Amino acid sequence: MILKDDALALRSYPFGNTSRIVVWLSRSYGKLATLAKGSQRERSAFLGQVDLFYTCEILFYAREQRNLHVLKECAPLATRPAFRTDWRACAAASYAAGLLDRAMPFGPAPAGLFDLLADTLDQLAVRTPGPAFLPRFELRLLRELGLAPDWDRCGKCRADLRGAAGARMDVAHGALLCPACGADRGAAVSAAALEALRAMQGATLPAALPERVFREVRALAGGLLEHHADLDPRARAVAFQVLAAG
Ligand SMILES: [Zn+2]
Repeated sequence: MILKDDALALRSYPFGNTSRIVVWLSRSYGKLATLAKGSQRERSAFLGQVDLFYTCEILFYAREQRNLHVLKECAPLATRPAFRTDWRACAAASYAAGLLDRAMPFGPAPAGLFDLLADTLDQLAVRTPGPAFLPRFELRLLRELGLAPDWDRCGKCRADLRGAAGARMDVAHGALLCPACGADRGAAVSAAALEALRAMQGATLPAALPERVFREVRALAGGLLEHHADLDPRARAVAFQVLAAG
């Protein structure tokens, strides 16, 4: 069966002497891998048509029962050239795409994931953002994957936590808890951090956070990703350093 879709190139590696495998996040079919036969050859039709973090229109022969499909045609829709020259933007893009890649098995993906990554890459390619950009992406990714806690209500008794003090985070269960439910587990979450976490669910990046709040948000998002999404802590540390250096 031949299928056509828009797809983001997450990862690519050589296969045999002349071919490459490209791992994509496709708009309709989720995460998939395609074999680009002969793409390492000098006169390959794939030459210049695909690179990391491109959005492409791909035409592929879907092999049922197999995880590796065959790429027939590929045309770039957005190449995001900034990533070839701006190493800081490229490092942040690598982290964002890599995090999604590690968190997602092959197969269908939640509907919002393609647009989340495409928007994130577009923004990074236009201008290198401040450090709050990354935890916001992480929190939105967790939400798309159904792994983000409800920041407004206790995960156990459903008590309203808006405006309440003493909320606690149970990272292992991915739940925010009221003081009573979280008394014997979890770590305290400050009211300022909770407010920032809620603001980060919105469409626009919140104003710069005080350093103390930023650190708390970064630790919370990192804890959730480590427990629930196979985070690579070293890649994350590098990406945060790179954005902080600006
Ligand atoms: Zn409770």
